[in-house]
Amino acid sequence: MAQVTRSPKVYDVCIIGSGASGGTAAKILTEGGLSVVMLEAGPPLNPEKDFKEHVWPYQLPHRGVGVGGKAAENFGEFLAPNGAWEIEGEPYTVANGSRFRWFRSRIVGGRTNHWGRIALRFAPVDFKSRSTDGMGDDWPITYEDVAPYYDKVESYIGVFGTKENVSSAPDGVFMPPPKPRCTETIIKKACDKIGVICIPSRLAVITQAHNGRAACHYCGQCGRGCISASNFSSSQVMIPYAEKTGRFTLITGAMAREIVVGKTGRAESVSYIDKATRTEKKVYAKAFVVGASACESARLLLNSKSSQFPDGLANSSGVIGKYLTDSVGSSGGGIFPQLITMASVACTCTCHGGSLIARMSSCVAITSNLAVAEPCRV
Ligand SMILES: Cc1cc2nc3c(=O)[nH]c(=O)nc-3n(C[C@H](O)[C@H](O)[C@H](O)COP(=O)(O)OP(=O)(O)OC[C@H]3O[C@@H](n4cnc5c(N)ncnc54)[C@H](O)[C@@H]3O)c2cc1C
Ligand code: SF4
Repeated sequence: MAQVTRSPKVYDVCIIGSGASGGTAAKILTEGGLSVVMLEAGPPLNPEKDFKEHVWPYQLPHRGVGVGGKAAENFGEFLAPNGAWEIEGEPYTVANGSRFRWFRSRIVGGRTNHWGRIALRFAPVDFKSRSTDGMGDDWPITYEDVAPYYDKVESYIGVFGTKENVSSAPDGVFMPPPKPRCTETIIKKACDKIGVICIPSRLAVITQAHNGRAACHYCGQCGRGCISASNFSSSQVMIPYAEKTGRFTLITGAMAREIVVGKTGRAESVSYIDKATRTEKKVYAKAFVVGASACESARLLLNSKSSQFPDGLANSSGVIGKYLTDSVGSSGGGIFPQLITMASVACTCTCHGGSLIARMSSCVAITSNLAVAEPCRV
């Protein structure tokens, strides 16, 4: 029979996953005096060594696109490490006819090493979908309940933006935004002409030195990871502070397999696979935080079946694994004929693109560091 090695210590809290949720919980709980053990399926991260923020294409074989351009599929080899659409050894299936693609990160900090840093608040209307759209359910809490926590997070991680009083994109605690680039100035002018509200975006990028982190130097390479921690990642802005308390134990290469319930019906340990030795180990704690990302947290809870909880843990409603929402991505492009004949000039700007539809009834389209905020009905 396989041997399961158990940790001799019973920690106050065991956190599964080191991304946005796990990293934040680790910082808050350790600074509050609790002993915390964290299981992270990926390896540790060393930003100085692992981030290719200032690497030139000619410094990498195949200019960073891999053999036959293969790596381009996963945003190229410049991307912050260990984030991909497909992860070796971890296949998934999707419903017939579905084009769902699942971007996962396997590294300390999770997807906060890869995210676009667009840091928007839910709007009051987002908490009231049933009342406003007749779809979904109203949340049992309101925007006003959550707003003080948004304030707290923004004050700590640093978010730039401007106060605009747009109902679908509530204002927050902002650092000044960078100056708009020429393309953004053109978009703004066009929006003004047709009456669409166009405002600077809100990004978790610091434009002033903050808590020992240097201000952004506008290299425009956030997706590669930022060595100076001028943008937010859990790996640089949360985990190191948990480590500083001396009450934090991080176990990397540890794939949580099941949360094990004791005779009293309470969760008492996590069984995990040590990926280096391929052995099963157990870590004990008094409380557990599941922060393995939306889909994987659901999978772990469903895999945590026992005679007391035959449908998995925390699943008395039967909806674990259903109605899941993960982040979505989209892209668009265009040509500005006005710029074709313009001479290139040195440009100090951020380089953050993408768009985020926070919720169907409050749609915020973002073009680089400008946001076009317009309540829209889909
Ligand atoms: C390319 C990209 C761009 C994005 N841009 C934005 C944006 O601009 N704005 C925005 O708001 N959101 C954005 N997101 C979404 C955002 O990154 C995620 O919503 C957020 O990181 C989720 O945090 P999390 O803690 O739930 O999970 P994650 O950050 O994914 O962290 C989960 C961690 O758990 C670990 N893990 C998983 N399973 C196990 C297991 N069984 N055992 C142990 N560890 C495990 C993983 O290895 C990972 O490190 C983006 C995401 C991607 C991929
Ligand atoms: S643009 Fe700013 S925040 Fe992004 S990687 Fe460069 S220095 Fe860091």
